[in-house]
Amino acid sequence: MHNILIIGAGGVGSVVAHKCAMLRETFGEITLASRTLSKCDDIAASVKKRTGRVIATAKVDADNPDETAALISKTGAKLLINVALPYQDLNLMDACLKAGIPYMDTANYEPLDVAKFEYSWQWAYQEKFLDAGLSALLGSGFDPGVTNVFTAWALKHHFDEIHTLDIIDVNGGDHGRAFATNFNPEINIREVTAECRHWEDGKFVETAPMSLHQPFTCPDGVGTYEIYRMYHEELESLVKHIPTIKRAQFWMSFSQNYINHLQVLQNVGMTRIDEVEYNGVKIVPLQFLKAVLPNPGDLGETTKGKTCIGNVITGLKDGKPKAIYIYNICDHEACFAEVGSQAISYTTGVPAMIGAKQMLTGGWAKPGVWNIEQHDPDAFMADLNENGLPWQFVELTPEQAARFEVVACR
Ligand code: NDP
Repeated sequence: MHNILIIGAGGVGSVVAHKCAMLRETFGEITLASRTLSKCDDIAASVKKRTGRVIATAKVDADNPDETAALISKTGAKLLINVALPYQDLNLMDACLKAGIPYMDTANYEPLDVAKFEYSWQWAYQEKFLDAGLSALLGSGFDPGVTNVFTAWALKHHFDEIHTLDIIDVNGGDHGRAFATNFNPEINIREVTAECRHWEDGKFVETAPMSLHQPFTCPDGVGTYEIYRMYHEELESLVKHIPTIKRAQFWMSFSQNYINHLQVLQNVGMTRIDEVEYNGVKIVPLQFLKAVLPNPGDLGETTKGKTCIGNVITGLKDGKPKAIYIYNICDHEACFAEVGSQAISYTTGVPAMIGAKQMLTGGWAKPGVWNIEQHDPDAFMADLNENGLPWQFVELTPEQAARFEVVACR
């Protein structure tokens, strides 16, 4: 059994704490630390109620590597799971290097003052982690995370070469609120309002945000939703590590209601991330907006419906064209019944727990900085089935794959 330190007591941190507590044979003493101690204590009380396990809590400023390193030493943690915000990634990697333990996260580093999603800052830690003989696992959520592992598994078992990759993230859930985001509103809105980039013929091509969209019908009666092409960070690592990919795109579903609200907020300047002066105080409009929007962690109680996230992949096997769709469907209400969270936090927190398990016991702790698709996918895929995120895959014809027709083939 291994002690772990979880940083971040938000929607995702809560799921990670619950799911790690359920795997007694893997995870020893669990400490949940965050900026606001009362949030850690609330989660610890829920973990005790649901699993019978007592977990420790602590207050920490994750932007202070010395403070985090001292907490790591105090807890005897053998792994740090970062589910705070992307702004903390580098400081937490530094803390791990100081304390001499491995690191993992679910989202790539972003500077506070510019919405820029790229791995360069974290990949630059490669030498430091190699020299220290320590491992860092980047992106062990759902997307990035499971979608990368789906791709690695497809390459290992179904393709000699992958040519196109379309990651399709549908949230068919309804939270009953006028406007809310599924995870941290600041990070979510920065992501959605960024320029779209997709990979085509060896380079990223930029287009206007949300300018390309189409309907997508999910399997198993989840429904039909409008999906919008946007940039997502896993595209960068996947095209680097699987160089045969000729085109890679990421799509996410949004309701017309979400788009309308977002457009108004953008038009009136509420999504700005630069400081403005208000009554002699400097505020960042997007951070203020986060303060008045519903807390995503509180949406579980009212959210109904399902998520359906998967990859349409085409390529060659034994010289012949091949296409598959691999996906997971997750029910918001079932997640709430199990751990008190909606499916977006759940689908991120479960893979974080599984990634942690592979790091501690599954041979994923090789020195260096790794994106998740660089590891062997099989044990992770098996653990998804056993820990609440079962997946399925179907073969498509190349024509069905081109039209994202994943239902007719069943
Ligand atoms: P929340 O905003 O709900 O939670 C973030 C937590 O981090 C809060 O408890 C916050 O504290 C804490 N925190 C922020 N800054 C600091 C700091 N300096 N020191 C200590 N604690 C800090 O976010 P979510 O749970 O929704 O998301 C967590 C992470 O998961 C994000 O990085 C997000 O991008 C990622 N994510 C990844 C997905 C994937 O599929 N890969 C999908 C969804 C999310 P406080 O409570 O005081 O604000």
